[in-house]
Amino acid sequence: MRVLITGGAGFLGSHLTDRWLERGADVVVVDNLVTGDLRNLDAARASGRLEFVNADVSEGIPVDGDVDWLFHFASPASPVDFTRRPFDVLRVGSVGTLNALEFANERGAKFFMASTSEVYGDPEISPQPETYLGRVNPIGPRAVYDEGKRFSEAAVMAYHRHKGMDTRIVRFFNTYGPRMRADDGRVVPNFVMQALRNEPITVYGEGTQTRSFGYVDDSIEGVLRLADSDCTEPVNIGSQWEFTVVDFARLVIQLTGSKSEIVHLPPLPDDPRQRRPDTTRALERLDWKPTTSLEDGLRATIEYFRLGL
Ligand code: UDP
Repeated sequence: MRVLITGGAGFLGSHLTDRWLERGADVVVVDNLVTGDLRNLDAARASGRLEFVNADVSEGIPVDGDVDWLFHFASPASPVDFTRRPFDVLRVGSVGTLNALEFANERGAKFFMASTSEVYGDPEISPQPETYLGRVNPIGPRAVYDEGKRFSEAAVMAYHRHKGMDTRIVRFFNTYGPRMRADDGRVVPNFVMQALRNEPITVYGEGTQTRSFGYVDDSIEGVLRLADSDCTEPVNIGSQWEFTVVDFARLVIQLTGSKSEIVHLPPLPDDPRQRRPDTTRALERLDWKPTTSLEDGLRATIEYFRLGL
């Protein structure tokens, strides 16, 4: 078994790399390291079965030989990146996906798309099932990511329908855990780093917007079960622990024993007001549900960031 993972030096991609190596596969990681980090692959390198290719999938995939699976996990994923590097995000979610699909098609590989709850935009219904078509602002600051992922799903389904490709689509909801970048700007690294440094915790707006936080090990288990299944429809992977952002800030303060205080900054434009997955399909089709409590997952994450201080 030979598996190619775009974005394999990133947060989710590197955990997926580890799991495929554990399963005995050879893994090729293609990553241009704009948001990935080679240190995430330290354990994987020790296996002797990892090939690392430093390349931008939006330019092409310079890998020889056949692969059995292509997992397209490359993309900056933090809202901060959507304004910091909008063209990288736009290109990898469009040309990058087409390159990855063409590569997989030429080699007869199965294709796995890492999509996102962002395809639902600012949803009117909660929880969000896969059948919900979403409410994305196509000209908003998040559109480079959201529309790229929506385009990617459309492209995957076109290859599935018209070229007979065996495909999977996962929609991740706010996954967190070790190997997130401390400065990536997302709520988990921001709050944990601020708490560990006893600095003010920056809540955007009132903090009444909600998110549901899923631990990375559970999410990657969901990915493997989806890959092993015959489910070609999109599948939500995420947790039911829905928190308001301000309650989440309090939880991080409590678990870190921090002296930090909460401060409120202006709200972000187009910030989804609520987000919680309906995971019925994952349960019924993959027999998957999260098993790591938020407290256990956060403790492991806090420990990871503490070691990096
Ligand atoms: N957020 C916040 N303070 C921060 C970072 C994020 O209040 O320092 C909020 C943000 O406005 C959003 C939620 O936390 O409502 C989750 O943000 P994140 O960037 O992690 O990802 P998103 O779910 O918005 O893609």
